[in-house]
Amino acid sequence: MTAHWTHGRSTRHQGAVCGADDGPRTRISDEPHLVTCPDCPNAAEIETIPDDATTGDPNVIDMLRDARNGHTRKISGVVVDATTAHAILTVYNAATPKTKAKIAGLPLTVMTSLAWNILRADSEREGPR
Ligand SMILES: [Zn+2]
Repeated sequence: MTAHWTHGRSTRHQGAVCGADDGPRTRISDEPHLVTCPDCPNAAEIETIPDDATTGDPNVIDMLRDARNGHTRKISGVVVDATTAHAILTVYNAATPKTKAKIAGLPLTVMTSLAWNILRADSEREGPR
């Protein structure tokens, strides 16, 4: 059995606040008291935080440093946690200037998966410690 939540309608993008998409069966309501999805209230709060940077912003790396140091930073609609910021910066700091420029211009989601892929590949190569 699949649970069907009623989601809040997003103000920033099409569909549910939390990004859930169960296809045409997704129930979305403009009335907050009808929302049953556990992720939507939090997501709605996050939506109200203004972006600190967007994709391609020259400040994006500074914002990641702030996030790594424990400050809430939001980039292109995504709140960056310290662990993710640390992972991206680890890869960024090890890169050549040319690659650094390339990384800094990536959308945050791509930056994040790139960082984790590289770090995971590294730890597999080193083996268990
Ligand atoms: Zn939801």
